[in-house]
Amino acid sequence: MRVNLISPRSPVASVTKRDKAIQFSRLSLMTVAALFPPDAEIKLVNDSLDEIDFDEKLDMVGISTITSTAPRAYEIADEFRKRGITVIMGGIHPSVLPEEASIHADAVVIGEAEGVMDKLINDFKNKNLKKFYKSSERPDLTNLPLPRKDLLFGNKFYREMDLVQTTRGCPFGCDFCSVSDFFGHTYRTRPIPDVIKEIKLLRNRTVIFFVDDNIAGRPDYAKELFKALIPLKVRWFSQASVIFAKDRELLKLAARSGCKALFVGFESISRESLKQVGKNMNRVDEYRECIKRFHDSGIAVVGAFIFGFDSDDVSVFEQTVEFIERNKIELASFSILTPLPGTHLYREMEQQGRIFERNWEKYTCGEVVFKPKLMSVDALQNGYYWARKQISSYGSIFKRTFLPNRKSLLFFYINLIMRRSSRASLKKTEILRT
Ligand code: SF4
Repeated sequence: MRVNLISPRSPVASVTKRDKAIQFSRLSLMTVAALFPPDAEIKLVNDSLDEIDFDEKLDMVGISTITSTAPRAYEIADEFRKRGITVIMGGIHPSVLPEEASIHADAVVIGEAEGVMDKLINDFKNKNLKKFYKSSERPDLTNLPLPRKDLLFGNKFYREMDLVQTTRGCPFGCDFCSVSDFFGHTYRTRPIPDVIKEIKLLRNRTVIFFVDDNIAGRPDYAKELFKALIPLKVRWFSQASVIFAKDRELLKLAARSGCKALFVGFESISRESLKQVGKNMNRVDEYRECIKRFHDSGIAVVGAFIFGFDSDDVSVFEQTVEFIERNKIELASFSILTPLPGTHLYREMEQQGRIFERNWEKYTCGEVVFKPKLMSVDALQNGYYWARKQISSYGSIFKRTFLPNRKSLLFFYINLIMRRSSRASLKKTEILRT
């Protein structure tokens, strides 16, 4: 059985090969690959880096897609199906809009693939494929087959960072986020010995990115995990909510176990905005102290901020950049609020008739697809560009990272690297828009 598992390219202008490879660095296809029988011949195809050979002799193609890559995923699927090759689709977008995806696929996997792949493969072999596959239960994360990382050997970007998952889901349910819906409003953890075993088998084990949406969704579990990581002497990065910093023991263990930076969803510096989208665990008045605690523990902060909430007016851009610089947040990531299908935000905006753009390619979180309340569409779009330019200016990088210690210096250099690709992609995006 010859199978290609394809990651469709993002519509976001990628500049360097590294940008493209990072977009591809999702663990999902490697996890799905591990669910095929051992005799299946599987290849991972990165549509951002590789030319897809539609005439390759294959039995099956699997495509995993998020919303912004769905149009490209459908294009790829249609090409293969024209040649009589069976196409299976999965991922967040097909899971929330299975009927739409089924127009382009022979079968759609709704939700997580574990628990349905055996049946799907059997049905395929017996020429009895069903339209939809959905597991009645959320998969138990005990003894999961290890993701097929061997399929990426030879890819030089793979050598730079190892991806590992320790939990699935998030205990919170922010209105704009699809994580909780996709994982059935559960937060499941892998047994710590399974995680440690996987890490010990990694080729390099120098830098690990834990792809969890919220690595400390259960602080008791996270503390045990961090204790088990200490002897391994790894350096790691992950995503966490800002309340992570309120637990001093958690912070201390994270730092001791090799945590170098956390991607933290601040989302907004407006209490009103956070309330509107159900992000009630974030307390704006605690941000300053939380950032200081991260820094005091030697953990750099990659802050995520969203523009376009209903209480955001045009002052939000300058205020947010000023907040980031004042608190010396090492790296900042900006998004435009996007009503992704399947989220509460989508249902709400749909009801209010505010969504004006239905082309999923625009759902990159970098383009305005709805009518904002307190500013025009152009003001939101341009403010987002302004903030990105501002934060990647030498002045801002210097203010945030050029401190007399090595860790800041490291992020000074990371900012310089990211500045280049961010500026180039902005230039490309703006040219594409005119
Ligand atoms: S805390 Fe983060 S991962 Fe969890 S629901 Fe909110 S945005 Fe999503």
